[in-house]
Amino acid sequence: MPRTYFMEDLDAFSYREAVVGGAPIIVPVGSIEQHGPHLPLNTDVLLAKAMSAHVASAIGGIVAAPIVYGYKSQQRSGGGNHLGGTTSLDGATVIAIARSLVLEFARHGAKRLVFLNGHFENYQFLYEGIELATGELSARGSDVSVMLLSYWDFVDEATIEEIYTDGFPGWNVEHGGVLETSLMLHLYPELVHSERIVDSPPATIPPYDILPVRPELTPDSGCLSSAMAATAATGKLLSERTAQNLSKAVSAEFAPP
Ligand code: ZN
Ligand code: MN
Repeated sequence: MPRTYFMEDLDAFSYREAVVGGAPIIVPVGSIEQHGPHLPLNTDVLLAKAMSAHVASAIGGIVAAPIVYGYKSQQRSGGGNHLGGTTSLDGATVIAIARSLVLEFARHGAKRLVFLNGHFENYQFLYEGIELATGELSARGSDVSVMLLSYWDFVDEATIEEIYTDGFPGWNVEHGGVLETSLMLHLYPELVHSERIVDSPPATIPPYDILPVRPELTPDSGCLSSAMAATAATGKLLSERTAQNLSKAVSAEFAPP
């Protein structure tokens, strides 16, 4: 077992030993994106990293150095890429990064990888990069298997009902809302400025995209739903149950050798 499960804290010898010994590698994927006046720009990175750490400790895995930047923020799910602070990659770049990392970890001898996504817009580009890489590896006779998931898909129905007593607004408008703010209050309370939370109803953005974006469709706060109901206790509940569900799914696919 490595002394720590964060790749960037390991020396190369311990890292290689763990990987060759069969430790799955979990790659947190985030974004640098505005999350309103109360949360930091790297919220998606921090939450993906925290969830990855939970999974790594549960299954004896390694948390890879995260992919910090993500695909462009969309107005309907992240407020839009026109907003200052939000710093994004083109889709082709995200695909290339995902492909390169799968090939690199395969070169190290890893057989099982998990891309743990924390930014809504990344998903399909990660999928494409992973698909390209696993296709190449299969053609070479290599048996590398990669899971791709977004952590909020592991918040179970019972927990959603327990937390969203006034009705669940949907994951797409949970940008800077109760989920992310509660998790941040639990995991990184020093980075949350609760006094700056803006209490506004869920954004009413039409069910289509229009480009260039019409900035007036995004609420001034940059958040798509209110975080007023966020608490550290909710964050703890969300964090524990989600991590448990995630770890269960990953170990079902990648049971430790
Ligand atoms: Zn976010
Ligand atoms: Mn995001």
